[in-house]
Amino acid sequence: MYCDLHTHSLASDGTETPTEVVRLARRAGLAAVALTDHDTFAGIEEALDAGRKQGIRVIVGAELSLPHDTGSFHLIALGVDPENAEIRDVADRLCDARGPRNRGIVAKLRASGVDITIEEVEAEAGGADQVVARPHIASLLMKKRVVATFQEAFDRYLGRGAEAYVERVRVRLDEAVTATRAAGGVTIVCHPFTLGFRVPGEVPAEEEFVTWCRGVAAQGVDAMEARYGSYSKTQEAFFTQSAERAGLLPSGGSDFHGSIKPAVRIGRGRGRLRVPIAWLDALIERGKSRPDAHPVAH
Ligand SMILES: [Zn+2]
Ligand SMILES: [Zn+2]
Repeated sequence: MYCDLHTHSLASDGTETPTEVVRLARRAGLAAVALTDHDTFAGIEEALDAGRKQGIRVIVGAELSLPHDTGSFHLIALGVDPENAEIRDVADRLCDARGPRNRGIVAKLRASGVDITIEEVEAEAGGADQVVARPHIASLLMKKRVVATFQEAFDRYLGRGAEAYVERVRVRLDEAVTATRAAGGVTIVCHPFTLGFRVPGEVPAEEEFVTWCRGVAAQGVDAMEARYGSYSKTQEAFFTQSAERAGLLPSGGSDFHGSIKPAVRIGRGRGRLRVPIAWLDALIERGKSRPDAHPVAH
């Protein structure tokens, strides 16, 4: 029995509805799927409902962006009660900051001579009330033939350090950990290869990385993605072993986004991904076992 603990829907920057994400998970033969949209629980209710109807376990999650000097530090809050005020507050703060950031990016693009408006960007995302993010701007730039590919949009305009990049508001690690624990969940370091450690080949120097992992574990982080949709065998072995050495539980997921990352499938990633359901059970158990956790409703 397998599961997928890292997926995105239309509620953030994925291309499928929460219902479709759940349906694809069931079709892939998974016993459980976590919906972990960026900074929002907006898709959760629909996903839980689809899970009940389709007879598959749906786990509540959100992927939070944290400050990190050298790269991207994403942390999944998993198994949380989405009604918990502390975790909602963290997600709302991150969500609220997206509007000003998107407008900042559009202003920089216009200053670079690109004909684009915030209204067009919002329409691309399905409306101003939707989560509007850089992938929507990227696909708009492709439609306008400003760039040829998604990657080019990020390389030239939207990525860190690129022409129209605007830094985003982030949540501190201690805030994310405290809120997740209060909501009865666990925190998981996502795709650690984006943290920006010096990379000899495709993995960081082991001692430096394990020291970093022990540091976040000491601050209350529970787990790390030992398996991930696009890991090579080398990365999988490295991150599995590093998590173990640092006392972090293993987690895993595809980081499914739908048609914007067509090679990554739910439950399977690029083909070799398998996340045992026992990993999920251990994570849920850890979340429930803490004295500061409130009971999870599902
Ligand atoms: Zn991420
Ligand atoms: Zn993700």
